[in-house]
Amino acid sequence: MSDIPITAYKCKKCGKIHYPFHDRCLKCKAREFESIHPAGRAKLLTFTQIFNLPWGFDERFLIIGIGEFENGVKAMGQIKAEDIAGLKLGMKMTPTWAPVRKVQGESVHGLVFELA
Ligand SMILES: [Zn+2]
Repeated sequence: MSDIPITAYKCKKCGKIHYPFHDRCLKCKAREFESIHPAGRAKLLTFTQIFNLPWGFDERFLIIGIGEFENGVKAMGQIKAEDIAGLKLGMKMTPTWAPVRKVQGESVHGLVFELA
């Protein structure tokens, strides 16, 4: 699963991973980063339901969560689940890059976590 087009930035000095990009490391203030990509599956860190969706979404609500990949990259994405009853913090999710909404008839892709 290395087909997720997300780039995170790992501080060359202290190793802290930033996503999105910051000018200076939030931990040690260094300015040099190495680009890394999410690798492996993702662990669910936190999630929430959003009911007031912007225009372009067909769903009544979305479940949004933050996943931590096996190499430490953390990213927010949609969670593909019927409801939050089946979600548990720490559970493993499979990251995919899939259509998440339509803008002027065009599908916009984003990070989607599947519970498998
Ligand atoms: Zn640093």
